[in-house]
Amino acid sequence: MWLFFTVLKRGVNETVFEEQMANMKTKQQSTPITYKLIRKRAKAMEKDTTRFLADLVRTQSFSSKEKNVIGVIKKEMQKIGFDGIKIDGLGSIIGRIGKGKRVIAFDGHVDTVYPGDLSAWKSDPFKPFVKAGKIWGRGTVDQKGGVATMIHAGRLIKELGLNDQFTILFTATVMEEDCDGLCWQYLLNVEKLKPELVVITEPTNMNIYRGHRGRMEIRVEVKGKSCHGSAPERGDNAIYKIARIALEIEKLNERLKYDSFLGKGTVTISEVKSSSPSLCAVADEAGIHLDRRLTYGETKASAIAEVKDAAKRAGYPDAKVYVLTYEEAAYTGKVYPTEKYYPTWALDEKSPYLKNAVAAYAGVLGKQPFVDKWTFSTNGIATAGMKGIPTFGLGPGNEVYAHAANEACPVEHLSGAVAFYAALVAKLNGKV
Ligand SMILES: [Zn+2]
Repeated sequence: MWLFFTVLKRGVNETVFEEQMANMKTKQQSTPITYKLIRKRAKAMEKDTTRFLADLVRTQSFSSKEKNVIGVIKKEMQKIGFDGIKIDGLGSIIGRIGKGKRVIAFDGHVDTVYPGDLSAWKSDPFKPFVKAGKIWGRGTVDQKGGVATMIHAGRLIKELGLNDQFTILFTATVMEEDCDGLCWQYLLNVEKLKPELVVITEPTNMNIYRGHRGRMEIRVEVKGKSCHGSAPERGDNAIYKIARIALEIEKLNERLKYDSFLGKGTVTISEVKSSSPSLCAVADEAGIHLDRRLTYGETKASAIAEVKDAAKRAGYPDAKVYVLTYEEAAYTGKVYPTEKYYPTWALDEKSPYLKNAVAAYAGVLGKQPFVDKWTFSTNGIATAGMKGIPTFGLGPGNEVYAHAANEACPVEHLSGAVAFYAALVAKLNGKV
C-alpha cells in the first residue's frame, strides 16, 4: 500500500512538472531572454532544487560507493529530458544538452566524506532539512549543492532555450574525495571528452575561483642493518637516518616558493613507519610519508629533486624517493591506477572565458564577483593541471563547512548558482 502511494505521488508530481515545462515553452516564444528573466525562473525553481538536493543528501554516497546516488541523478536527468545520458566505466554519469560543435562541461563530484564523530552533529547528517535559510546535511556544501544546481541549470537552459551553439555536458563524477581528478582523467583519456571549458561546481561561497595549489604524496625510505638491541654498535639504525632526513624536510619547507596568487608551496610529514625483527633489535627499515602542496611553477620533477636533495643534505643520497599510486576499485569494479600527483593550475586572469563569467555573474546576480582561489584541491587538477583545458568554478556553500559537522548551505545560493550557470550559457551563446 505504502509503495503504491509513493508511486502514485511521484506520478502526480511528474504531471505537474510536465505542465510547468510546457508553460515555459509557450512563454519562451514571446519573452526575450534577459538576465532578469533567468534570475526570476531560477528563483521560482528554488524549492524544487532544494528538494533535489535533499534527495541527493538522503542517498549516502561515500567514495567508491556512489551507485545509488548516480541512480537518483539519472532519474532527475530523465525527468528534465536531457538529450543524452551515459554512465562511464568508473561510474560517473554524463548528461548532455545540445549537439553543437563546441563542447563545454559542468562538473560536480557526487561522493562525500564520512560524517565522522556523530556526537558532533546536532542532527542526522543524512536526514536533510531546511532551517534558518539553510539546507543542512552531509554533502550540502561539498558538494551535492553544486551537483543539484548544475543539473537544474540544465533544466533552465532547456526551458528558456538558452543554448544552440554548444554540446553541454553535465558530469556528476565519482571518487573525488579519495583521488581528485581521477574521474576526469578517465573522461578525457578513455571517454575522449574534448571540452573547451570546464566549470567546476565545488563550493566557492558564490565567488568565482580560478585555480588552486596542486599536491603530491611522496614516500622516502631508507634501509638499515638489524642486530641485537643489546649491542647496537653492530648494526645501522634506519630510524636515525630517517630522523635526520625528516629534519631536512622541515628546513626544505622554509625554502619553498611563494606565488602571489596561489600562496606558498609547503611540505610536511604525515606519517613515520619503521620495522625491526623485534622490539629488542635495531630497526632495519624506516620511511616517511610527505604531504606536498605545490604552488605555481612547482612540478613533480622539481618536488622530487628537492626531496632527493634533502636526503643528500642529511647524508643519505641513496634514500629511495617515490610518488605513491592510487589503485582503489570504483563501484563498477574498474581499477584505473594513477600516480598521486595532482598538478597545480590557475586560469589566466585575462581569459575570455573568465571575462564572460564575470559579465554573466554581474548581469544575473547584480554585483561584481570576487575572483579568488580554492584552498583545497578539485577535479581541476586533471582538466586544467594535466590537460590545460580552461577551467574555473563557482559553487553554492562556503568551503569552510566542507568535511565539517553540521554542514549547511544557504538556500538562496542554490537559485543563485542555477541562475549563474544558465546565464553563463546564455552569454556564451550570445543571447544576453
Ligand atoms: Zn569537494
